[in-house]
Amino acid sequence: MNIDSDIKFLKGVGEKRAEFLTKLGIRTPGDLITFFPRAYEDMSNIVTIAQGAMTGDSVCVKAFTGVVRTALIRKGMTLYKLEASDGENVMDITYFNNPAIPHLIKQGHDYLFFGKIENFRFHYQMNSPKFIEYDENAVHLSPVYRQTAGLNSRTISKLVSSALENVTLDDCLTEEIIKENNLISYADAIKNMHFPESEEMLEKAKRRLSFEELLVLQIGLLRLKEKSRKSSSHIIQKDFTAEFAALLPFELTGAQRRVIGECTADMSCGTPMNRLVQGDVGSGKTAVAAAAVYNCVKNGFQCAMMAPTEVLAQQHYKSFEKFFEGTDVKFALITGSTPASSKKKIKAALAQGELDFIIGTHALISKDVEFSNLGLAITDEQHRFGVNQRDALSSKGKNPHILVMSATPIPRTLSLIIYGDLDLSIIDEMPAGRQKIDTFLIDEGVRERAYGYVKKHLLEGRQGYIVCPLVEDDDDNDDTVAAKELYKKLSNGYFKGFKVGLLYGKMKAAEKKKVMDSFSSGEIQLLISTTVIEVGVDVPNAVIMVIENADRFGLSQLHQLRGRIGRGKYKSSCILITDSKDDDTLKRLKIISSTSDGFKIADEDLKLRGPGDFFGSRQHGLPDIKTSRFMADGEIIRETNVCAAKLLKTNPELSGDEYALLRKKTNEMFSRGTMLN
Ligand code: ADP
Ligand code: MG
Repeated sequence: MNIDSDIKFLKGVGEKRAEFLTKLGIRTPGDLITFFPRAYEDMSNIVTIAQGAMTGDSVCVKAFTGVVRTALIRKGMTLYKLEASDGENVMDITYFNNPAIPHLIKQGHDYLFFGKIENFRFHYQMNSPKFIEYDENAVHLSPVYRQTAGLNSRTISKLVSSALENVTLDDCLTEEIIKENNLISYADAIKNMHFPESEEMLEKAKRRLSFEELLVLQIGLLRLKEKSRKSSSHIIQKDFTAEFAALLPFELTGAQRRVIGECTADMSCGTPMNRLVQGDVGSGKTAVAAAAVYNCVKNGFQCAMMAPTEVLAQQHYKSFEKFFEGTDVKFALITGSTPASSKKKIKAALAQGELDFIIGTHALISKDVEFSNLGLAITDEQHRFGVNQRDALSSKGKNPHILVMSATPIPRTLSLIIYGDLDLSIIDEMPAGRQKIDTFLIDEGVRERAYGYVKKHLLEGRQGYIVCPLVEDDDDNDDTVAAKELYKKLSNGYFKGFKVGLLYGKMKAAEKKKVMDSFSSGEIQLLISTTVIEVGVDVPNAVIMVIENADRFGLSQLHQLRGRIGRGKYKSSCILITDSKDDDTLKRLKIISSTSDGFKIADEDLKLRGPGDFFGSRQHGLPDIKTSRFMADGEIIRETNVCAAKLLKTNPELSGDEYALLRKKTNEMFSRGTMLN
């Protein structure tokens, strides 16, 4: 039977069951064999009856069976009852209305029973336990499937067996790859995913399937990267980094110097740069971008820098005003709220090459923005953009250099795949003199004390933030703190007499700018906001941040938010408020209070939530990923990366019959995704 056939033709299925299977997304035998168990029942951890009764959980007991007796309790209700002994104690086992039981459970054999043991005054009992005959040599991991009406886990398991007997499982990996990477065959992997011979084989099966999927993904990404290796006419002939560094009011850190060096090397070599700069919040990515811009402009070509929010674009503009003060670099800002007349002028100047550099929001990628000679396209806070938007900006030039900047919202190990088509630079050093931010996790009950702590800082001349998860509370049953209400309450209450501001995403751009300007200038002392301040906002005098309903945010997001403070010479503190009593949530929040290392936080986030989240709904523009959620650690990602590179080096087109299936899988994966649009 073919793996793409209609599932209804599989032995044991038929029309009716086919319908039920469709509800689980299963239409072909191929779908069925990749419908993996959601869990396994471990029949290998055997306990005694007495031990099992103590735990109260489902346990596995090995017991020697007596004869099955039948009793009619009332009309239509037959009870099947037997005694089973583990040598120490005896328990009653009961089943209702299951006439097969006397045939399935034979007298005088050892069975494994799986279920809860109830203890009525030392009278032990199990109700309808799962069972299998004990076999010393067998391993007892049995699959548990997601069920649906009309299909229980046991039936699905039978159908999977039937599929495994009736289809051939072709391997898309060659013998050589399998051997070199210590993998098991595709057929063995699929079989062991459903019916593991042992824990060890189950691990091997997961590894094999994840390896395959990640390999396919990396092959696709590498081919994409190869495509962008065209020649570049924008070549940096002379390095102006030293001249740029002399303009700065601070010394560049070693890491900034190294990354600037990596960028200039890329831009001097004759092919376009394609580089991701990752650096924790506050590591000084803007200065690195400015160095690249300065180098390009001095070598005679234009640059563009796109930021995800207006607030951030404006702030970049201000930073560049300082960086480029006294130089002849001509640059401008363009956003959605730039007046039409100035927009027109700016666009004309860009098209004629009178402007060297433009900073902006999405407004930059609108159709009528043209460049005379765009040589470098920078995207800041890349995770806020889709891959398509990144491309839209660079397509305004002829193979321009591409620089994308990100504050590591994703773990290092995953960045290799998510940004697989980019070279990676990491700024792993903070500017000197930065103080550690103290982070406290507190309960709602002591909120007033937190506000008191904020007040104390405001009185000392510092500024602060209170961040809320929502703008408006639209749901009365919910006690989530909303920014607008809190603003009303606090500006007329606890913080009366202080200058309090309000900022949220939906405000008009001009209003937002007014609030941000007045916060930057120190006029507004306390800013109550939503996560609009998450990216990039830089006000060194702001030293305290309270985050309401901290449990509503992801770890990486909290880290980003916290990055708004601790930017100057003053000691900063961050207070996380939560009313959650949930252990996992508190554990998660404690990670944030215990470390300020963004990479570590992202890695912890990955460990707690699994890679599914990163591969799931994120705007990384990658194809849908299925199996690797089992396993996407650094090691397997590196291994598949090496394997893909090696393969493509000797056989860039993957030609030959032995690669036909691998080729097919790569094309399929990438036609599903948005990456090759
Ligand atoms: P991010 O990497 O989060 O984008 P920024 O580029 O906004 O960080 O830099 C954060 C702050 O650190 C800015 O105020 C910037 O001027 C300052 N800064 C950057 N590099 C250095 C340095 N080498 N020494 C001191 N301050 C620096
Ligand atoms: Mg930044």
